[in-house]
Formats: sequence, structure tokens, C-alpha cells
Amino acid sequence: MSSLVSNSISEEIWQAILNRDSKFDGKIFYGVHSTGIYCRPTCPSRKPNRRQVSVFPSPSEAEAQGFRPCKRCHPQNIIAPNPARDKVLAACRYIETKSEGIPTLAELSAQVEMSPCHLQRVFKKIVGVTPLQYGTARRTELLKQHLHQGEDIASALYEVGYGSSSRLYEKAPEQLGMTPAAYKRRGRGEEIRYTTVNSPLGYLLVAATARGLCNVQLGETVAELEDRLLQEFCHASLRRADDELQEWCSALVDYLSGMPLPQLPCDVKATAFQLRVWQALREIPIGTTRSYSNIACLIGQPTAVRAVARACATNPIALIVPCHRVVPSSGGVGGYRWGVARKQALLELEKQYANARDE
Ligand SMILES: [Zn+2]
Repeated sequence: MSSLVSNSISEEIWQAILNRDSKFDGKIFYGVHSTGIYCRPTCPSRKPNRRQVSVFPSPSEAEAQGFRPCKRCHPQNIIAPNPARDKVLAACRYIETKSEGIPTLAELSAQVEMSPCHLQRVFKKIVGVTPLQYGTARRTELLKQHLHQGEDIASALYEVGYGSSSRLYEKAPEQLGMTPAAYKRRGRGEEIRYTTVNSPLGYLLVAATARGLCNVQLGETVAELEDRLLQEFCHASLRRADDELQEWCSALVDYLSGMPLPQLPCDVKATAFQLRVWQALREIPIGTTRSYSNIACLIGQPTAVRAVARACATNPIALIVPCHRVVPSSGGVGGYRWGVARKQALLELEKQYANARDE
């Protein structure tokens, strides 16, 4: 009987595929030679002829053999078992549920049973920020919600676990980007400097607070860009400052001509979730793309695909947070806040630079 089977997959694995055995999910992937598609063992699609099947230990090995990922079971999005990542996610959840202040590193490390320095390191690697920064961003987010709901400052502070208001006034300006009172007025009184310049991809607007870049946009005309800046920062005072911003502006224009992008200081207001998405975007290598569901998996929330798409669509700093490197898994380049044609051009540019660099 077994001589009829030309392929060497074991009976155990073949049964796992036939039975859509979830114990094998993430451990094996099967490619079907007649279709050129590879799947998870749990894929709901009709099961293939055994002789057409090859088995691989990972998506990359299936893809190296020329198989494309199945559009029903998205095998490329599997996250391999990773105990360190699970502990980091548990630490995130713990920080989020803690209403009275931000837990210390020692407390977190006891909670997830990982040494403090190891936890600090893997947390930073996976989430992109330290546990303290994560807790602070999370608390800032809550504080904003309370202030937006019209709560007075003292009780909003109390709600989110600040011991006394004086502590917030010490810490908040760097988190909110302004004092709580100024935030309650939503930018009124804040000075934002900006400049515009022509670039290979149209006009580029670069805007900054005293602390760093707060807005980078691409557009057809200067008037259109100024309009959008005004909408976003309706209560701030906007001042054109071509000379002061020239250095940052040139770095971005140079980037569009093939130069590497240096680290530039940023001052964006974000929720903890947006921060995690944007950090994941910054880790997509130049010349490559990811899907929205890839990013959702990377930040450990595989079902949050729509929220990831929304975080991409609300990215305030074009190029620096490369939201253009996220494309739909169904094909095409997808949407782009600053124009689909521009996204297409940007991806092509980056592919050329990456190729030139690797040659
Ligand atoms: Zn499939």
C-alpha cells in the first residue's frame, strides 16, 4: 500500500492534516504541488491528494520552494511558540490592569517569573519601549480620555493613579507634550513651527513643537498641506520657520533621493496601542512590506487587524513612521493617507535603494 504514496510524509502527519489537528498548527505547513499554495494543517479548505503534498517546518521554507500562502488560513502569519514573548504580553496586561500607578520592574518580574534585567531587555525588544514607558504612555492615554470627558484636572489625575497633582505637573509635559491644563485646551497656546519644501514626491510639510517633529505630510500643493496642519492643530499657534527646520527638512528630502534617514526627534501624541503599532512599522526593513495582519500578530494582538489599519491611517509623521510599508495581503498597495500613487512610488523607490545597497 505505502508504495502508492510517492511522497515521504508520515502517516501521523497526514492524519493531522486530514483531521485539521490544531496540535500541529504552527509546527508544520503543507504545500500542494498542483496549486502552488501552502496551508496550515487546520486550514478549512478541501484537503488535497496525499501525493500532491509536501510538508515544511516553517512558512519561509515553503516559500523558498515557490509555494504561496493560502488566502483562507494565512499560514505566513503564524507566530512560533515563544515563551519570552508570552511573558512580555502578560507583563503588558498586568500594567494595563493596574489602576494605582505603574508597577515597578521588580514587581513585574516577580509577576511573570523572569529576571528584571532579562524582562527589561525582551520587553524593549518586543514592545519597542520599556515597561515604564509603556505604563506611562498607557496612563497618559487614560488621562487624556478623562480630560476630554470634561473632568477637572485633579480628579482626572486621581482616576489614573497619580498620587498627587504635583507629580503629574512634573512628569506630564513630556508625556502629553504640554501641561495638562494646556492639553485640556487642546493645543491652545502651544507654538508649532513648520516649513514646506518641494520634494521628489510632491510638496513636503515638516512641523515641530519645541521637543521634536509632530507632523510630516506629503501633498500636491502648499495650501493643501497648510490646511491639513491647521485642522490637526486648530488651537495651536502656527508659525512658518523655514530656517529653523531646514536641517530636518533636508534630511527627509534627501531620504526621498536615496540617502539613509537619520534618527530625528519626534513629539507625537499617541495611545499605547498606536505607539506599539508605529514601533512595529519602524522595524519593517526598507524595501520590504508587511500586511496589516502581520503587524497585528507582531504586536501580539492577531485579531486587532482593523485597529492596526486605523493606527496606520492616523500616523501623523509620514516617512519616519513608514506606514507605507503596510499593504493588504490580498494584493495591491492599499490605501495611503497621502495618496496611493505616492505610496506606490515610495515603495518602488525603497525597493531600488535596498537592491542597490545589497548589491
Ligand atoms: Zn489554507
